[in-house]
Amino acid sequence: MNRRHLLLSSAALSSLALSAHAANPTAPVVNKPEVLKGAENTARAQPPLPYAQSALAPVIGSTTVGLHYGKHHKKYFEELAKLLPAATLETDSLESIVRAATPGPIANNAGQAWNHNFYWRSIAPKSGGKPPQAVRVALEESFGSVDAFNKEFTKTASEHFGSGWAWLCKNQQNGKLVVVGTHDAASPLTMASLKPLLVVDVWEHAYYKDYSNEREKYVTAVVDKLLNWRFVEANLAT
Ligand code: MN
Repeated sequence: MNRRHLLLSSAALSSLALSAHAANPTAPVVNKPEVLKGAENTARAQPPLPYAQSALAPVIGSTTVGLHYGKHHKKYFEELAKLLPAATLETDSLESIVRAATPGPIANNAGQAWNHNFYWRSIAPKSGGKPPQAVRVALEESFGSVDAFNKEFTKTASEHFGSGWAWLCKNQQNGKLVVVGTHDAASPLTMASLKPLLVVDVWEHAYYKDYSNEREKYVTAVVDKLLNWRFVEANLAT
């Protein structure tokens, strides 16, 4: 297929999608690609940790990861299995369950299951440092500099009141990157036009064994040494 044919085909497809939507305004226009894929986007089972339990040490110790992944995160999947019909667990993506849930136990447990799947991918052993060029340019356009982003993200995460999450998101309406804090199990997946790119867990269970009440030390160490910029780059590109 040559390039001209490809362009004509996509124009034809768009016009078909638009006319289908005009005929039935409640039909979804186009499904956005889901942020996490495969085992990380299913409700039926907790995905494997993407690295060894001890691999984040000394920034996040093996005991913390063992409890966090092996007890807290696991429990959200166990609760979901009690709350949802087996068919839903088999067929619906975790993201679609989060997006569709009304406030209550399903939203809480599905939200926490997905948020933690996203967290384990947002950090990685021997990471942090300078972001790849595409990420650096996007951060500079939205925050002025990478340092200014680091500062705003660290402040939002450190000062967040109570349990929750600090996110870097893309506002899909204007293309800008924004730092967002959410409480408890809340997720940007349910907020209009925000696509999550990165998250840090600021529930006490994420850092208390390693840092006691000094959340800012945990956040600063994670930003310096564990942020998975390659994951952010991949999320920006899709
Ligand atoms: Mn957690």
